[in-house]
Amino acid sequence: MTIPDLALDPRAVRLRDALGARILLPGDDGFDAARMPWNVAFDQRPIAVARPETAEDVVDVVRAAVAAGLRIAPQATGHAAGALAGTALGDVVLVSLAGLRGAVVDPVARTARVLGGSQWNDVLEAAAPHGLTALHGSAGDVGVVGYSLSGGLSFYARAHGLAINSVRAVQVVLADGALVRASRDEHPDLFWALRGGSGAFGIVVSIELDLLAQPEVFAGMLLWDASRAAEVSAAWAAFTRAAPESATTTLRILHFPPMPDLPPFLSGRDLVVVDGAILESDEGAATLLEPLRALGPEVDTFAPMPAAALVQVHLDPPGPTPALTAHVVLGGLPDDAVSKFVEIGTAPGLFITELRHLGGAIRRPALDGGAVTAIDGEYLAHTIAVVPVPEAAVQAAAAVQAGIAAFSPWRVDALALTFVDGPLVDRSHGFGTALGRLREIKAAVDPDGVFVAAHPV
Ligand SMILES: Cc1cc2nc3c(=O)[nH]c(=O)nc-3n(C[C@H](O)[C@H](O)[C@H](O)COP(=O)(O)OP(=O)(O)OC[C@H]3O[C@@H](n4cnc5c(N)ncnc54)[C@H](O)[C@@H]3O)c2cc1C
Repeated sequence: MTIPDLALDPRAVRLRDALGARILLPGDDGFDAARMPWNVAFDQRPIAVARPETAEDVVDVVRAAVAAGLRIAPQATGHAAGALAGTALGDVVLVSLAGLRGAVVDPVARTARVLGGSQWNDVLEAAAPHGLTALHGSAGDVGVVGYSLSGGLSFYARAHGLAINSVRAVQVVLADGALVRASRDEHPDLFWALRGGSGAFGIVVSIELDLLAQPEVFAGMLLWDASRAAEVSAAWAAFTRAAPESATTTLRILHFPPMPDLPPFLSGRDLVVVDGAILESDEGAATLLEPLRALGPEVDTFAPMPAAALVQVHLDPPGPTPALTAHVVLGGLPDDAVSKFVEIGTAPGLFITELRHLGGAIRRPALDGGAVTAIDGEYLAHTIAVVPVPEAAVQAAAAVQAGIAAFSPWRVDALALTFVDGPLVDRSHGFGTALGRLREIKAAVDPDGVFVAAHPV
């Protein structure tokens, strides 16, 4: 094993002395694989990577990093690596929590205790045998902590609100190495701050969540050729204006390249898709969908399904993907905004142009919640471009930014923090009036700014 830079950086030497093989340094076997995030468009170059497997490991890593004068970035999967990209990582230990996974369900209390690096699939697997599910997002491999502590928009959200309000307790390692449990009764200020401030306050080793009694869900997708985008988009907009809070759906225009791994109905196709969940009886849901089904979709998978299968309906990528994204929150979706969506979505440049229906319980602040409890808007416009080679990044960034800029007339001062994916985004619209108190609590529990997070406070 050769470690070319190690002799030059005494901080790395101190880490190795304290942690031995529990830390990976540049030049170590496995360092390059360990520093790669899910979003492989971002080339993270930390001074070291730690891969703790227990809460005690996390305590040791925090103490060793602080003693060596280094900062710390917790990361579970790297789905939000783009948001962290604004931070220079030369003095940062990346703490990959990928080895700290697992979920235990209490079926009587309807709660789950979930380890800090767990993905939603871990929770769904543990919850499904009890007829329970969680307020997970569209993809099963997203991290529970990063998603839940920054908001968390699920297909249950218009009925049940943001996932952040389902967090009951958080076990976290602070900058002084203390492992504390934060809940309404223990460290209540920290508990408030974590629910929004997320990884800016410490490394979460486990989290306790309320679950939903939902063995089955009426969910699926409707798919048409993108040549139908204008009429489908107008029909979806009308559907959402009248939809009850039980329906949470999205509208997307997608452009798939020809790829042998894709099923024929996707490969090389330009498509318009409506998907989501409707928490009604099968008959009630079918009645709501009638105007969309009347447009004769080429594929229609809406049906009752096991709740754990909901992570399949949104066609998220099955593994690490290099992508750039941007979003804005909209106050409404008048007809000219729908036309703009179609214009942007059908023009070349973007892989996906998406509208998510917000409103309902997503918009209502939770009474005893944390720093972030709601998103004050009716729709979220989201643009996604793939970055197949690094040289494509400039063009991709321009495409996603131009896409959301076109929604400016309908934009409101709100953000979905989980959808913030770039270093230059002003997070203050996501934190709102909570920002001042978040900064006070950060100064009290992490006065030296040890923790660097995807969404700094
Ligand atoms: C394909 C895809 C689908 C998505 N779908 C949705 C969706 O439906 N709804 C939605 O709201 N969002 C969605 N997102 C966004 C996603 O929720 C955010 O990217 C979220 O931050 C991912 O969390 P993570 O832990 O997987 O990511 P990471 O990049 O690993 O973590 C993000 C940040 O969370 C913090 N963090 C994570 N784990 C810990 C921990 N154990 N301790 C302390 N801090 C921690 C850190 O600050 C870290 O920088 C999606 C993203 C992708 C790429």
